[in-house]
Amino acid sequence: QSAFGAVQQAPEDPLFGLMAAYRKDEDSKKVDLGIGAYRDNNAKPWVLPVVKKADDRLRDDPNLNHEYLPIAGLANFTTASQKLVLGDDSPAISEKRVVSLQTVSGTGAVHLGGLFLSKFYTPSNSESKAIHVSSPTWANHNQIFSNVNLPIKTYPYFSKETKGLDFDGMVSSLKSATEGSIILLHACAHNPTGVDPTQDQWKQISTIMKEKSLFPFFDCAYQGFASGSLSTDAWAIRYFVEQGFELVICQSYAKNFGLYGERAGAFHFVTSPGSHAQETTSRVGSQLAILQRSEISNPPAYGARIASLILNDKELFAQWEEDLRTMSGRIKEMRKALRTKLEEKKTPGTWNHITDQIGMFSFTGLNEAQVQRLREKYHVYMTKNGRISMAGLNTNNVDYFADSVDAVVR
Ligand code: PMP
Repeated sequence: QSAFGAVQQAPEDPLFGLMAAYRKDEDSKKVDLGIGAYRDNNAKPWVLPVVKKADDRLRDDPNLNHEYLPIAGLANFTTASQKLVLGDDSPAISEKRVVSLQTVSGTGAVHLGGLFLSKFYTPSNSESKAIHVSSPTWANHNQIFSNVNLPIKTYPYFSKETKGLDFDGMVSSLKSATEGSIILLHACAHNPTGVDPTQDQWKQISTIMKEKSLFPFFDCAYQGFASGSLSTDAWAIRYFVEQGFELVICQSYAKNFGLYGERAGAFHFVTSPGSHAQETTSRVGSQLAILQRSEISNPPAYGARIASLILNDKELFAQWEEDLRTMSGRIKEMRKALRTKLEEKKTPGTWNHITDQIGMFSFTGLNEAQVQRLREKYHVYMTKNGRISMAGLNTNNVDYFADSVDAVVR
């Protein structure tokens, strides 16, 4: 008799289940709009040319070995990551108010941040130790934060009517949150909706969060991938830092470097300016190191080495920016093509949201029954909330996809 006889069967991860179903489908017209990974116009994974170059350089390096990295990771990588997200001349960096650790991609950063806050965040009101996430949010947020015993609450985010931001709902929810609550914010290219606040709306969010002493927890998984500009996509984070917030940032290099499986990412803690800022930062860093040591000992090296080479070399960096424009540009073109096609066909509904939304995903507004019909009848695979990964569309399948959507919507 097993001591685990009472263990219940867990549901399959919806996204990875979808991938498996797609692989099994033998229809030649099949379209994969599920997983959030960039595909080129031939629906193939794309190794960024700059990553290929850095990878070749690394492999040719006779001094390359497989020793452990330090607990906090590769120093050249974390330092360059701070600059990338906060800006080269950020006072937070020069005033030594930032401590950074290399993590197991963005997921590891979110986990480390959740664990750290769960153990060490002590707002004056103990009831406020909840993290508020947008409704909807990246599904993994819920699992990660519940694993570290952070109570989870939600704030409204997406308007079903406009398929844009429910700004009033979000603002009134933030206004009524308990003082000191943690607020998870997607820095850009919100997953799963593709809907971001405008800069003016970010300013208003910041004002409310200041008033209520809310703690910003930024998840930044798409810097440079969303707009094609690294600084535009980091604007919200930099603005909040300028406003003097104490905050954390989780950074993923999965999408913007296409280093998905290499698991390169970083976690940053930024202290507010003030007389004890440096000391606090250094003490926080020491505790983060202990958490990291107990969980992963030290992070994986290879992906960080690739990223570090590119981030620290002017020429490679410029080429990376070019590659980012290639990816974001192709996605924007697909948004335009899909919207145009649906409007030409007079498919019932409005389709401006397809081009208003940004980044990897679009929340189409298709309902669960329509999503199911798309899958069963048309071999189109997307998550049941109607989210499509824009990178799955290309000039060969966008018409077919639009025709299929038209058919299930009518
Ligand atoms: N946060 C968000 C919002 C994401 O969309 C993702 C990628 N799906 C991540 C974090 C982390 O991904 P990874 O662990 O692959 O970097």
